[in-house]
Amino acid sequence: MSKMTESADDMTKSTSPFLSLTGLRAALRDGSISSTAATEAILTRIETIDPTLRSFVTVTAEEALAQARAADQRLANGEKTPLLGVPVAIKEILCSEGIVSQAGSKILEGFKPPYDAYVVSKLKAAGAVIVGMTNTDEFGMGSSTEYSAFQTSRNPWNIECTPGGSSGGSAAAVAGGLAYGALGTDTGGSVRLPASFCGIVGLRPTYGRVSRWGVIAYASSLDQVGPMGRTVEDTAVMLQTISGYDERDSTSIETAVPDYEAACTGDIRGLKIGIPQEYFIEGLDPEVKAAVEAAIEQLAALGAEIVDISLPHTKYALPMYYLIATAEASANLARYDGVRFGPRVPGKDVIETTMRTRALFGPEVKNRIMLGTFVLSAGYYDAYYGRALKARTLLINDFNRAFEQVDVILTPTSPTTAFKIGEKADDPLQMYLTDIFTVSLNLSASCGLSVPCGRDSAGLPIGLQLIGATLQEETILRVAHAYQQATEWHTAHPPV
Ligand code: GLN
Repeated sequence: MSKMTESADDMTKSTSPFLSLTGLRAALRDGSISSTAATEAILTRIETIDPTLRSFVTVTAEEALAQARAADQRLANGEKTPLLGVPVAIKEILCSEGIVSQAGSKILEGFKPPYDAYVVSKLKAAGAVIVGMTNTDEFGMGSSTEYSAFQTSRNPWNIECTPGGSSGGSAAAVAGGLAYGALGTDTGGSVRLPASFCGIVGLRPTYGRVSRWGVIAYASSLDQVGPMGRTVEDTAVMLQTISGYDERDSTSIETAVPDYEAACTGDIRGLKIGIPQEYFIEGLDPEVKAAVEAAIEQLAALGAEIVDISLPHTKYALPMYYLIATAEASANLARYDGVRFGPRVPGKDVIETTMRTRALFGPEVKNRIMLGTFVLSAGYYDAYYGRALKARTLLINDFNRAFEQVDVILTPTSPTTAFKIGEKADDPLQMYLTDIFTVSLNLSASCGLSVPCGRDSAGLPIGLQLIGATLQEETILRVAHAYQQATEWHTAHPPV
């Protein structure tokens, strides 16, 4: 322990937990800090701060220190894999070999996967040090982490507020200086919303860009893993690491991975940015609106061309999403039946055993399974699920038409800043409304990110959403990076 404190002191002398991932990487490469010292400092910080933030469900201190020591050896040999020696965190919805990965659910309590998710193996191959598994709403269903069966995470900017969800643990950890980057999953906004609430960058890649092998499924036509970081470049490095073709995921796109870091050129002159009127609606917090409008002006000053556009089917996106996501969830979660997956709570016969076992699901997951089963049932399928699929095509057409006109679409990430813990937990509809600006791109074939663009009068971060066409991650990274170069929102840190 005294060793740990000593190295933590070394760390504060030469660097800080709020150094960017690329900054730490440079310090590791030039030998001004060791991965062991950086990791020990992060672990000490987790011990001190995380009892308040509750961002980690499992801290893998021993494994992390072993990875750090191995990284130091490799660094000493001059190796330069992209994340060599960098402490990162992952959402506990990603399978991590031998490490408890529970998807925030009692039905997976204590589950230690026998293999790594594709993205986890990519992080390890890049030399990352994984410091722990972060909190999530159960199976990713929620917008605040309050639907986790284990704990509620807190927002480092104000611990009475939620960090957003469902990847709220990852967002709080990165914002609070407990990891230099993190992975989340985004089915309807779960990377972008918490990024926006916590004042960091979060990117949802195009469906198929990142393999879902080893990702505990929520809604299979929408799920995607996404990186989170304190800067756009950090996020680009993480995206670079986890992208790529994987034959074990049939939806994985077989196409080369561009150099995402190189996309951060700082030059956006002549780029066309579309502003859809449908996102500047009643219910949008005036402070959020003002911050987003200021960002639009800033981007225009940097040489982008601002174009008014329309995405006419936007108002159907939320109902469409909650029909499709719940339908797919009800099918995916059928596997936890006490026979094939998960624990078994025995009863007198099969029916009672199934009922007792599935009673381990939390109330919100049960809501979704019931809704999803209903919309898929005979007599209702065409009226609800079938109709949602047709509407989804109209929404995709909206985006295709818009991307004929513009390179990037800009919207607020969320209608409000972070809300208080407890404020919406008992009112699922209010909770669902939080996702109103994020779900559209999950339903379409777009990619998107949230980048900090201001703070409200209570000091809470405001996020800006940039949406790109299929596989145009480079373009949204380029715009977000240029914006960060010209502004300072990402350099401020929460009071933790
Ligand atoms: N809040 C949304 C939901 O509850 C999105 C979740 C997600 O992206 N995993 O479904």
